[in-house]
Amino acid sequence: MTAAARAACIVGWPVGHSRSPLIHNYWLKHYGIAGEYRREAVPPDQFAAFVKNLAARGYAGCNVTLPHKEAALKLSQPDDRAEAVGAANTLWLDGGSLLSTNTDVEGFLDNLDAAAPHWDRDLRAAVVLGAGGAARAVVYGLLLRGVGRVIVVNRTVDRAGGLRRRFGERVHPVPWNERDEQLAEAGLVVNATTLGMEHQDSLTLDIGRLPGHAVVADLVYVPLLTPLLTATRARSLRTADGLGMLLHQAVRGFTLWFGKKPQVTDELRALVEADLAASAEPPSGIS
Ligand code: NAP
Repeated sequence: MTAAARAACIVGWPVGHSRSPLIHNYWLKHYGIAGEYRREAVPPDQFAAFVKNLAARGYAGCNVTLPHKEAALKLSQPDDRAEAVGAANTLWLDGGSLLSTNTDVEGFLDNLDAAAPHWDRDLRAAVVLGAGGAARAVVYGLLLRGVGRVIVVNRTVDRAGGLRRRFGERVHPVPWNERDEQLAEAGLVVNATTLGMEHQDSLTLDIGRLPGHAVVADLVYVPLLTPLLTATRARSLRTADGLGMLLHQAVRGFTLWFGKKPQVTDELRALVEADLAASAEPPSGIS
């Protein structure tokens, strides 16, 4: 790297599966910026020391993935959204301070805006499946956009109750076995569970109950086309996929570290899609 080059990284444990290096290094090359984005495999007991020494390691900032997102929040000065969501995934140095945010919120919203414009027009109720870290970012984003009623359906219903305690009475916890009954009034359904991921069970949902204007978003991106998205498209409803969210959530970090707001383009998407396809397991029965 030249003296003027900047660097950022993704810190996780493990971190080998992350597509963030592909995304950020594509943008660096595309915009002709002297810089580098690396992977850093850091175990939990070394994470605090790692982020305290970011500047000494030559980093302008970093992304943080599992299992470090909650620790990153405590070790930095979070903005309102990271504080509200309870997790930070993007850190940057500002003078002597280490600041943080949660870009899953805007990744989710920006992807919906791009994939299903005006999805929030006259939206009265949204159904969010799941109550983990990703669901917290989704629910916070929906409330920011003014959605009046956010129904959170979760296998462990008390965890859905935790989102109501965190975000207030516009959030309505519902047990997992009552999910289909919520769909008739839903203008938006979001899968923020791990169901539908490679090696996980499928999500069973009676898509036929959704109104004709409903939009379905799936946060899962391995596989790219989940059974939920396939069933939704078969009904000609609009969808937003998990890869789109992953690409959109990366924009803010790149802007902060490298000083240029990058675009999420078809070319970038095709690059990451090809990488996902190359590492996908063949369907069973095919070797
Ligand atoms: P998490 O904190 O571990 O939460 C997992 C959620 O899935 C919980 O609500 C859990 O319910 C539910 N779940 C797991 N197994 C289930 C089952 N058999 N039946 C019903 N519900 C089940 O995970 P997370 O970090 O929120 O991530 C959730 C998903 O979002 C993952 O697929 C992740 O890859 C994806 N994600 C995508 C992006 C993106 O940019 N596209 C960003 C963040 C996350 P319980 O509470 O009952 O355990």
